[in-house]
Amino acid sequence: MSTFKSLGLNQKLLKAVEKLGFESPTEVQLKVIPVLLKEKTDLVALAQTGTGKTAAFGFPMLQKIDIDNRNTQGLIISPTRELCLQITNDITTYGQDLKNLNIVAIYGGANITEQARKIKRGAHIVVATPGRLKDMIKRKMVNISAIEFCVLDEADEMLNMGFYEDIKDILKNTPNNKDSWLFSATMPPEVSVIAKKFMHEPKEITVGTKNSSAKNINHQYYVVGARERYNALRAVISFNPEIFGCIFCRTKIETQKVADRLINDGYKAAAIHGDLSQNQRDTVMKSFRLKKIQLLIATDVAARGIDVDDITHVINYQLPDEIEVYTHRSGRTGRAGKQGTSIIFITKSDQRKIRMIENKLQTKIARKDMPSPEVIFTNKVKNWIDQIKSTPIKSDLKIYLPEAIESLAEIEKESLIELMLSREFRNFDLNPKSNDYSDRGRERLNKRDRSEKKINAPQDKDRFFINVGARDKYEWQSLKDFLRSFLNLSQDDVFQVEVMKNFSFFSTHKKHRDFVLKSFENLMMDNRKVNVELTKKGKTYSLKSGVKKKKSGFKKKKFR
Ligand code: AMP
Repeated sequence: MSTFKSLGLNQKLLKAVEKLGFESPTEVQLKVIPVLLKEKTDLVALAQTGTGKTAAFGFPMLQKIDIDNRNTQGLIISPTRELCLQITNDITTYGQDLKNLNIVAIYGGANITEQARKIKRGAHIVVATPGRLKDMIKRKMVNISAIEFCVLDEADEMLNMGFYEDIKDILKNTPNNKDSWLFSATMPPEVSVIAKKFMHEPKEITVGTKNSSAKNINHQYYVVGARERYNALRAVISFNPEIFGCIFCRTKIETQKVADRLINDGYKAAAIHGDLSQNQRDTVMKSFRLKKIQLLIATDVAARGIDVDDITHVINYQLPDEIEVYTHRSGRTGRAGKQGTSIIFITKSDQRKIRMIENKLQTKIARKDMPSPEVIFTNKVKNWIDQIKSTPIKSDLKIYLPEAIESLAEIEKESLIELMLSREFRNFDLNPKSNDYSDRGRERLNKRDRSEKKINAPQDKDRFFINVGARDKYEWQSLKDFLRSFLNLSQDDVFQVEVMKNFSFFSTHKKHRDFVLKSFENLMMDNRKVNVELTKKGKTYSLKSGVKKKKSGFKKKKFR
């Protein structure tokens, strides 16, 4: 078995490999690292995201740069801010034992002066998104005229996003004799053009088959009526209670609609699409990475660069027009050697598209039947049993054990299990006639909870002011989503969200008061501090942001 040592990495980098726990190089690393270390060459590597390609170009670049030279020697261009930050983070970790190494990320939507200041201190490697990089070159805030290595990462995505002209302009500012390394999941003609125009006899390395999807993705499809999609989605989620998934829709409106419905149905879900500000998108992505959100509903554009490992399922709520886009979507799962599932919901009339994808990907897509409510429920029970079996014992509960054992001693084992089962699933409707694939019990429970909480709300709630509003592109539902995910509170814990132009109000239960106030202490949004204050009903309160004094109270129509 090949090791990182046999690829030619130096001691400091090998130490980082050990700390990271990478046991052996991935296929792309195996093929790319020795070439880049030994030769001065241009390179085109066809590799999917999640194959370990950041390390494949990152390690050779780190080994080849001269730390004592403070000039920018390496440039990595990536399509999105998320990916840019991810690469910066990964390469910083890979170079953790290189003293004085300085890697700077530059990307849109953040303070340009601050980024320029960091570059000025000396950046050995700059990781950038095309738009911001071009802007900073024009303003002479960054100098890439002496770089030795230039990586174009996810080149196909960058071209998809219309960055061709920007990339062309950027490359004009780089020296001719640099090494260019291009990484792309697919090889559409546009990428070949870039390779031909800007690279000198590049070596070509392919991981897996060209344009094919990763092997460890299990592709499946369900034939569903157009109006059954949502119920089908819930059935799939119910059947996979441990799902950590990304659901793709075609439009921003549909994306938000699906997210809203899932949230209303009690799932930890959030939408990511182009109508959200960069900060809102960052917050959603952060919550997703931290697994505070279980289901991310995304448009293709917003999802570019989603670089989250461990995604168990990608669900194509609708298929995209282009098969390439399907490859990108499904490539979000089955990463880093893990197994993933890509699910397609398709209408009867569109079924021929499945064959087209199969041909293009040269892989089989299995037809699946919707699980019946009984099957879903059997799975739930199995999952519940697994959870019980794997629950860690809390030793401080031991003192209560004798009394509990004594009290339950008279109940036979079978009856006790029956009681536990009945209690756990007391709110589920097990009517076998119900075939709408939904957790009807959960729905009923949610409704009941909501009405109860509504009745209780006035007595034990706190009302807060927050200095974000419609100008930040929030409306009540998206602000509620944001607050819920940021505070990691459940659907019913944030309520009565009312959005004004420059500020908003929301309520939580009193028990969350200190937590809410503390949570926002250091939050910045679009370069301004987020200010959250407690309001007192009926009294006026001053707003630090200089907005007029305002009476509290809310219009009932705007929220629930
Ligand atoms: P990438 O394709 O660069 O986005 O990498 C995907 C994930 O694989 C990242 O989380 C890396 O930390 C991880 N990774 C990269 N190389 C290896 C390796 N040789 N062994 C195990 N995990 C790796």
